[in-house]
Amino acid sequence: MHGHRDRGGGGGPSDRKRINDALDKHLDKSTPSTSRGLRNSKDKGRPPVPSAPAGKSQLSQSRSKADEESETENEESDISGSDEDDTSWISWFCGLRGNEFFCEVDEEYIQDEFNLCGLSSQVPYYDYALDLILDVESSHSDMFTEEQNELVESAAEMLYGLIHVRYILTSKGMSAMLEKYRNYDFGRCPKVYCCGQSCLPVGQSDIPRSSTVKIYCPKCEDIYYPRSKYQGNNDGAYFGTTFPHLFLMTYLHLKPQKPMQKYIPRVFGFKIHKP
Ligand SMILES: [Zn+2]
Repeated sequence: MHGHRDRGGGGGPSDRKRINDALDKHLDKSTPSTSRGLRNSKDKGRPPVPSAPAGKSQLSQSRSKADEESETENEESDISGSDEDDTSWISWFCGLRGNEFFCEVDEEYIQDEFNLCGLSSQVPYYDYALDLILDVESSHSDMFTEEQNELVESAAEMLYGLIHVRYILTSKGMSAMLEKYRNYDFGRCPKVYCCGQSCLPVGQSDIPRSSTVKIYCPKCEDIYYPRSKYQGNNDGAYFGTTFPHLFLMTYLHLKPQKPMQKYIPRVFGFKIHKP
């Protein structure tokens, strides 16, 4: 179950530390593998709930009411994730409602330790989270409490996000994002004169939990809130400040021209002169 996703704060650092300490006490890494491991928690029929990594709730408060009202359309697109064993964690995660901005990171990329350099100090339960992402059977799931399982799952989501932001700057990652861009998976620019221009995800910061993901319009070169609050709850650091710009430098031919027209406010047909 993904109850933790709705919980405000979702287990702060002190909470994490406490449980980490408890884990260290109880878990011996040499325990032989006897169970299906953490995947059990996935197989218990995960509801297609919106993803909300820890700390999301406070991040999302910057959204205005108008934004929230304009998203009903997207909320209908519920993905009925078939929780069969052959669904990888990555496919499952990317298929969740609200996670449409994420591309599927190649397992090969994740298996290369070089690509994960520095992440182990940023993510709690790093080893368990990595096993979960790669569907490696873990020997500890039966020793985890429900709460611990949820924390590992939450950590896996964070780890995936931090891997994702690196991956989408590689050529393979970029071409995966190109496909999504062509599918309008990131939404369209809300500006009338941008004529439904396809957008790209962008973070306003590369530091996790600083701000939620936004969409960047390559036509008017401005950023907007995603239409769906589920999408808009994702951490901007999982997409990063660099991605859309490097993407458009890589695929130069995709860079559209600036909009020709600009909206001019009128009163009784007259342009308004500013005093
Ligand atoms: Zn635009």
